[in-house]
Amino acid sequence: MRKKIVAANWKMNMTQAESARFVESLLLDLGDIIDIEVVILPPFTAIAKVMEALGKAQNIKVGAQNMHWERSGAFTGEISAALLRDLFVHYVVLGHSERRTLFGETDEIVNRKVRAAHEATLRPIVCVGETLEQRDKGNVDKILSIQLRGSLKGLSEKELQETVIAYEPVWAIGTGRNATPEQAQEAHMFIRHTLREMADDAAAERVRIQYGGSVKPENARELMSQPDIDGALVGGASLDPRSFVQIVKAARDE
Ligand code: PEP
Repeated sequence: MRKKIVAANWKMNMTQAESARFVESLLLDLGDIIDIEVVILPPFTAIAKVMEALGKAQNIKVGAQNMHWERSGAFTGEISAALLRDLFVHYVVLGHSERRTLFGETDEIVNRKVRAAHEATLRPIVCVGETLEQRDKGNVDKILSIQLRGSLKGLSEKELQETVIAYEPVWAIGTGRNATPEQAQEAHMFIRHTLREMADDAAAERVRIQYGGSVKPENARELMSQPDIDGALVGGASLDPRSFVQIVKAARDE
């Protein structure tokens, strides 16, 4: 059984005060949740505040939205895995489509970061997904295969099992247009099939694959009830604690 994982990707939003208020509200509803893994992904500037607000609630994990692959050095403006570990961060999102399209991140760059994250015992959430043009041309499987093989190259089976994959069709991110549960399940099944080719069956079965792209309280339950959908990576709807809590509860109820 894979434990579902639901993550709040705040992107470039949330001040320290807003983050603390969000966590206080979240703890009222999810303070003792253990059956679903809940992850908050604040901007770098709010990570310490979120940690402080969580206090002893170690069931809720914190992640970063990006990092550099080098351990330290002259990389002005960058953050390393070691610096994130110093803040007790558990997860890091890598290869988000906004990083790929707006900041030119290739699979090779994502792969360097994924390896650096594992070296520092940070767990990567690796995003893959096709554009609308690629889907319309019938290239979904091809694109997913290239992104997975490129981004996860050289990982040991243990590292692969500890990696979370987020299937995020680019056309569904921040557009209000989610993939149907059937479209998402089909892509997740293909991702697991590809993981089976990259590692053994048991390892592929253990990898959690989140769906991301306009997840809302209204569509969360149906999406997460699909056999290969192991949670959600939530952008816009994660900025409101009530919506986010409803999405987490949808993962629990399905
Ligand atoms: C995301 O940022 O990963 C995302 C899926 O955003 P949204 O939920 O707003 O589509």
